This record gives sequence, C-alpha cells and structure tokens, in this order.
Amino acid sequence: MNTVTNPIAAPVSTPGLLASVGRGPLLLGVLAIAALAAFPLAVHNPYYVHLVETILIYAIVLFGLDIVVGYTGQVSLGHAGLFGIGAYTAGVLVFKLGVPLWMTLPAAIAVTAGFGALLALPALRVSGPYLAMVTLAFGTIIQILINEMSFLTEGPLGIKLAKPEVFGHRLDETQFFWLVSVMLLLALLVVHRVLRSHLGRAFEALRGSPVASDCMGVSVYRYKVYAFVISAGLAGLAGALYAYSEQYISPNTYNFELTVLFLLAVIMGGRKSRTGALLGAAIIVLLPKLLDDLQWFRTGAVALAVLMVLGAAVLLARRRTTVQRVAIPVAGSIALAAVSFVLQSMTDWRLSVFGVITLFVVYYLQDGIVGFVRKALGRPVMAKAVNEAAESASQPEDALVRARADAPAELLLAQQVLMQFGGLKALNQVDLRVMRGTVHGLIGPNGSGKSTMMNVLTGIYQPTAGAITFAGTPVNGRTPSDIALSGIARTFQNVQLFGEMSALNNVMVGLHHTFASHMLDVALHLPRYRREHAQATARALALLRFVGLADLAHEEARNLPYGKQRLLEIARALALDPQLLLLDEPAAGLTAPDIKELVAIIAKIRAHGITLILIEHHMDVVMAICDTVSVLDFGQKIADGPPAAVRSDPKVIEAYLGGEAA
Ligand code: ADP
Ligand code: MG
Repeated sequence: MNTVTNPIAAPVSTPGLLASVGRGPLLLGVLAIAALAAFPLAVHNPYYVHLVETILIYAIVLFGLDIVVGYTGQVSLGHAGLFGIGAYTAGVLVFKLGVPLWMTLPAAIAVTAGFGALLALPALRVSGPYLAMVTLAFGTIIQILINEMSFLTEGPLGIKLAKPEVFGHRLDETQFFWLVSVMLLLALLVVHRVLRSHLGRAFEALRGSPVASDCMGVSVYRYKVYAFVISAGLAGLAGALYAYSEQYISPNTYNFELTVLFLLAVIMGGRKSRTGALLGAAIIVLLPKLLDDLQWFRTGAVALAVLMVLGAAVLLARRRTTVQRVAIPVAGSIALAAVSFVLQSMTDWRLSVFGVITLFVVYYLQDGIVGFVRKALGRPVMAKAVNEAAESASQPEDALVRARADAPAELLLAQQVLMQFGGLKALNQVDLRVMRGTVHGLIGPNGSGKSTMMNVLTGIYQPTAGAITFAGTPVNGRTPSDIALSGIARTFQNVQLFGEMSALNNVMVGLHHTFASHMLDVALHLPRYRREHAQATARALALLRFVGLADLAHEEARNLPYGKQRLLEIARALALDPQLLLLDEPAAGLTAPDIKELVAIIAKIRAHGITLILIEHHMDVVMAICDTVSVLDFGQKIADGPPAAVRSDPKVIEAYLGGEAA
C-alpha cells in the first residue's frame, strides 16, 4: 500500500539538534528555580520580596490572558473581575469557614473557571468591540456584586486573612514566597504544555483563520470557550495567592484600571510568550513605583534610552530596519531621559508619562519586547517536535488512509439547492451527483456560484432551500466542523492557512481529530498523549512529504511561496482522512511546473480512493483528470457529463468556453 513515497523527501534535521534543544530550557529552568529559591534569603527587605511576589502572581494571570489575547486573538476586559473572583473565593472560604490552603486553591481555580465559562458561553458568540464590551460589563458587575453582597464578602470593608497553614505550620513571608514560586512554575509548565499540544494549536488556528479551523473539524466556538475557561482558572489561582499575599482584600482592587494594566502587560511583554508575560508583569508592577520616585524615574529613563540606542544599533547593523523607522523611538526615549532631569516632582506628571509610554508601545512595539528582541536576533527555529517525529517517520508509512470504498456508489447528492443572497440567486435549483472514487469537475465563469456550492456543501452557508446528503446522511443544518469530521475536507479559493504557524503545525491542526487526550493527559504528558503526539507528527511529516513540502516543515506558512501555500492547504485537508476532498481553484496562480506536480498529486489522491470535487479554470487540467464535469452559469447548472461531451455542448461553449477559445 505504500505508494506514497516522494522523491523530494529530504532528511528533516540532524540528531544533534535534539540534544541541544532539550538541554537549553532544562538549564534555564534549574537556574530560575535556584534564583527564586535564593531570592527571599538573599534580599532581606520584605518590601522587595513582596514586589517580586506580586510580579509572579500577576504573571500567572498573564499566562492565562495571553492564551485568550495572544493565541485565540480575542479581547478580554474581564480578567480583573476573574482575578477578584479567585481572591474572594479564597478569602471567603478562609474567613467564613477556616478552609485550609490545599482546598482553597483548587476551589478558587474551579469557581473562577466556572465563572469564566459563564462569561464565555454567551460572550464568545460575538467578537471584536462587542466582546470587549461584554467582558467589560462582566468585570464591572463582579466588582459591584463583591461590593453589595456584604453577607458573604463583607462589602467595602474587605476581608482580612492570615498567611496559610501547611501541615499545621503557618507559612512566613519567605515560605509563602516559595509557595508562590512553585505555583508559578507549575502554571508555567502546564500552560506551556497545553499551548504546545493539539489544544494550543487549536487556539492558534482559530486566530489564524476561523473558517479554516471549522473546516478542519476544530470548532471555533468550542475552543474559544475552552481557552477562556483555562484562562479564568489561572486568574482564579492567581487571585487566591494574591489574597494570601496581601492578607487583605477589598472590592476596589479589581477595577477597570487593573484590567487595562493586564492587557497592556500582555502587549508590552509580547504576546504568545511566557517570557513576555513575566516581563509584562514586571513592568506593570514596577512602572508605577518607578513613576512615584523621581530618582528611580531618572534611572529608568536613562536605562531605556541606552537600551533603545543599543537596540537600534544592532537592528541597523543587521539590516533589519531603516534609520527612518528607528529615528523617532530613539529620539523619543532620549527626550524622555532629558525631561526626567528637568522635572522637579513626579506627582503631576505620572499619568502623562504613563500615557506617553503606552502610546509608544502601541505604535512602535506592537509585538512587545519579546517580539522586538526576536526580530532583532532572528528567531531560532523550533525543532523539537519534529526531531521526535523524524525518528519515527524514518520507518516508511503511508501518508494517506485509504478511503472506505464500501457501498453505495453515490457519495454526494445535492438536490434542488437554492442559495439566495438578498435578491441574488447565487445557486438556483442546482442538482449535483458525485460518484465515489471519481474526480468531479465543477466549472463555469467567474461569479457563477462554484465557490458558493463549496461553501454550502461544507456548512459555511446554510442553503435557502434544497437537500444535501453525504454518504447517505443529511448535511443540512450541521456545523462546518461536524461536517468536516464526517469526511468532507476542503481547500479555499483565497488560501486560508494559519499564517503564524509552521507548515507542520498547519497539518497538525488537520490531525486534531486523531487526539483523544484532554488537558490532564497533556499537562502530565501521559503515555496516551505522547503516543498520539508522536503518531500525529509522523503522519504530518509524511503528508508534507506527499505534497513535496518536507523540507519546509518549520517555515511559517505565511512565508511560503504562493504555490507552496496551496499545496500545504491540500496536505492539511488530507490530514482529516476525508472521503471527499473539495479543491477550489487549486491551480490558480501556480507556475506550469507546479501545475504538473499538482495534477500528479491529485491523481495519487484519487488512487487512494478519495473522491474529489475540483473547481478549476485551467481547462487542460479539467480535461486531463476529471471523470465527470458539471457546468454552472449564473447559479444554474447548464451541463453535466463526461469532459469531452461537456466541452462540445453548445450551451457550454456559449457561456464559458467560447470566450476562452476565441
Ligand atoms: P465563483 O466561485 O463561481 O466565481 P461565487 O460562488 O464566489 O462564484 O459567487 C457567486 C455569486 O454569489 C457572486 O455574484 C457573488 O458575488 C455572490 N456571493 C457569494 N458569496 C456571497 C455572500 N456571502 N454574500 C453576498 N453575495 C455573495
Ligand atoms: Mg470561486
């Protein structure tokens, strides 16, 4: 069965890389643990210990907020509210019932995650500014409720609580700092693992292209809610730690300002990065202190100016930017340093300086500090996942699963499909019958309804009237992800890749359906997850090899040449193990040699028993590989049959081929 070996296959990486990737983070981790353990012993000033403790707690919130903002691309202005729910869950349990630490932390996580779900289920039906409004309202309501529900929360008076006891021993400041450190490292590990797993890829994919996510069987709505719930759980954990850390909680802490600060921290630090979250947390904790004290402000401003000049010099030397682009930020930071020596007192200027810094970040540091540094240094290639798989992929494996060839011969039947957009009938009583194992061409002039047909078949549009059955079951009324999972995969006329993800990870999103692992398997790296991950990676590499993209596995999809992007879309669609594959103008924009390769690939896909519907303008391609051709014109089917017969049909010549032949 192993017909799918590709001559272009190349070794993906050297084994040496694996070792080097494994050691770096390990060393860093050990150093970080040592530094955290030593810090409260080395620094005797409790004020500084408390500051760093606050940074660590905020970082836990930001890990979670980054999942929502950085990965899924949603806005949340409700995270201060969620943080407050965590704090009050712990506070109330301790104050009213004297519940011990080992129960308050899980309770805070669970209760806040519950509120997160409550917020997400309705809120995530909307997006953009509406979502911002809904989450903002949520945060405000939480603050008001905490204030008003005095019987539970003691209202504006707030709640006092002591540091927690562990094994009958009350923790002192140092020991509590260690507890927070352990929680931070645990949160870091879990978040990191989740984001590197199929769950994280689903989050990232729905930001890259929601419609493609749905068509790869990854329900956009479900994973948005999932991201929100995980994010809320982390905010809850942080909130509980914050309550013990401050030993006093009151409603006005969890206000609008805090929510904006959280958001700013994610953006400043750099989204999609745990280092970014830590940096962002440090900035929002330290910046207000810096702005309170003139001496500190001067030092900070000078340090910033020096960093900016050095950074600009590095970027210019590496030809990553131009003088024009760095001139204003560098001049601005020098001006800020100069102003800091002119100012005599900070009190009147705090907010203005803060505003200017915020504007600066939004204009010049859109990818945050981490993004900026990555760009300056050139981003290292992430090679770990692939190296693991490269080993298992060396055993030959069939990239394509042979489609079920069992009865009946008719795979797809569309009857009298009507698709109306206002007054326009984009599809007008169209019948389509696609036989199993064939390549069915769908042609017609621009605007004749071909792509609309594809969108109707995959659930993107609900037809106004008509019935569609696939493999004997109705398609109408089902969600795109459900239809995809039942065996219909597709590509898009306007390529819909997950641009920021590697080619390999794009295909891995298509393989999402092969994972049964849930959060716990992922967080603990249980054997089930490890096995599924290794199998999926090997499979994804085999699929990339199948379309001739093996040596571009780690390239970000958006950096691939256009023709390769189209091939990558096909590999991703094949990952679904479809029975029916819909290709919407796959040869558009391809060079002649690329088209030849594409035709060969399509033939190989058919050889595996997968049925294809092919929308194509290149008539030579259509004539060469289609078994049957249907012709649309102004939303109506005007011809149907073997390619040669259709080609000589006078109606078709008039509507479509006439113009081209002339
Ligand atoms: P083709 O793929 O054959 O070039 P399409 O299916 O994209 O054509 O479009 C068919 C017609 O339907 C066009 O007139 C197009 O403007 C219209 N159409 C497609 N999608 C929509 C939509 N979402 N809203 C309104 N009109 C649409
Ligand atoms: Mg089209």
